Amino acid sequence: EKESSFHNSPDTDYAQAEARQAIQAAFQTVRQNLGKTYLPIINGEPVNTLHFDHSVNPCNPSEIIGQVGQATVEQAEQAIQAAQAAFPGWKNTPATERATILRRAADLMEQKRPELVAWMVLEVGKVVEEADPEVSEAIDFCRYYADEMERLDRGYTRNFPGETNHYFYQPRGLAVVISPWNFPFAIPTGMTVAALVAGNCTILKPAAPSAVIAAKLAEILQEAGMPPGVFQYLPGPGSQVGSYLINHPAVHLIAFTGSQSVGCRIIEEAAKLRPGQKHIKRVIAEMGGKNAIIIDESADLDQAVAGVVHSAFGYSGQKCSACSRVIVLEPVYATFVERLIEATKSINVGVAEEPGSGMGPVVSESAQKTIQAYIAKGQEECSLALEMPSPRPGYFIGPVIFTDVAPTATIAQEEIFGPVLAVIKAENFQHALEIANGTNYALTGGLYSRTPSHIAQAQAKFEVGNLYINRGITGAIVDRQPFGGFKLSGIGSKAGGQDYLLQFLEPRVVTENV
Ligand code: NAP
Repeated sequence: EKESSFHNSPDTDYAQAEARQAIQAAFQTVRQNLGKTYLPIINGEPVNTLHFDHSVNPCNPSEIIGQVGQATVEQAEQAIQAAQAAFPGWKNTPATERATILRRAADLMEQKRPELVAWMVLEVGKVVEEADPEVSEAIDFCRYYADEMERLDRGYTRNFPGETNHYFYQPRGLAVVISPWNFPFAIPTGMTVAALVAGNCTILKPAAPSAVIAAKLAEILQEAGMPPGVFQYLPGPGSQVGSYLINHPAVHLIAFTGSQSVGCRIIEEAAKLRPGQKHIKRVIAEMGGKNAIIIDESADLDQAVAGVVHSAFGYSGQKCSACSRVIVLEPVYATFVERLIEATKSINVGVAEEPGSGMGPVVSESAQKTIQAYIAKGQEECSLALEMPSPRPGYFIGPVIFTDVAPTATIAQEEIFGPVLAVIKAENFQHALEIANGTNYALTGGLYSRTPSHIAQAQAKFEVGNLYINRGITGAIVDRQPFGGFKLSGIGSKAGGQDYLLQFLEPRVVTENV
């Protein structure tokens, strides 16, 4: 079935002593480079800024990871102008040459893998085993979209007596990428290289808490050969620089991943035709989730408990794909809850960098406060079954489990984006599906079951972009599980899938009477 020769990059096997030594050495190198300054890159050159944002280690907020120069609106305008100037050259660069730069970037990422992992661990508090697959995913995005662009670039012809028809794609123009902090390397890489390989000049505005990792991506893209003005790195406040970019009449395309509220706002703003604008902006918006796993009475509970614990508490629940609701059928409810609590207690919450830490902190003080407010709300509405301590100075929150949660409770409806799990009891399988579908989101979902009719019903009726059966619901792999949702989880084709690049291109047909 498979046409392409694409292969996923394998994750590091930390059981090997060599890999463990490499990551320890990388931590040492990265630690020697903490606190450096990162400036916006406009037209291939770093530019000075008046203001700097300190990016800190969430495990130890007194440790400054980097000082990130904050671009102004005037500098955003300069970046737009540089992109406009670079566009004709980039548009006319053959797709295979653009693809070659992506493949070079992927090779650089392979070479720099241990350092990239170390930067992620220190800047956003991801444990090593969770950060490493992100580098694999970023590499996959580069190689996969390079292959995809070469495939699409072939276009096709339909010839008839006296008539030829040629179908082909051209770039859209200027792309703005606005990325979140929770997959600080893979997500900005995916959106950025897709826009670039399609021939668009691209400005990356990263999320504030992960702007240093994004600067590492910028270095790699420059080193791989992205010409000045074609790719530009523009850290700065979303509400100012981000907002200026998305409102700009010269921008053709916005690729956003982040919260539902910001995403909806961008869609609304981008729809307004500005003076001088001669096109409709295309918006790709990947947003939040309130993902559920259903456990039926035939489930293998060993498998189900392990899958739920990892999906709910991996990276402290700060994944758009994370499980935040588990819906358990009445006959196995009590047994499942008891085993879930026991298994969760065995999670080692600790400093992300230390081997053996299963879960680190949340990303920032404001995230910690928001999550704590949800926990307080949960205590008003539901029964608190487990609250693990978080006895450290960093932004830690131990895993929290609420049981007997009403499907309509706040913590069962709103995206918390933290290690807080709502356990909901269902009377039967139909009821479980209704509860699962009873939110505004449709991103990921899961089912643990050995009942073929339940599996078939879930496939047909469980409204999610990515449904996982008898496994955890996080960790989608490029090409194997193209990723993305619908309802208020987003608009756009799945990242890492065959339709994704089409969004960055304008299709054309030329018919000639011969
Ligand atoms: P966020 O608060 O929405 O921020 C995302 C990006 O938008 C950041 O770069 C932010 O910049 C920028 N921004 C904020 N206000 C803006 C404005 N008015 N105009 C333009 N840009 C603006 O989200 P986050 O906290 O970084 O990420 C977590 C969210 O992302 C969760 O909801 C999660 O579910 C979602 N997510 C979805 C997917 C998916 O594939 N569906 C994947 C990962 C994450 P600043 O940082 O400077 O504010």
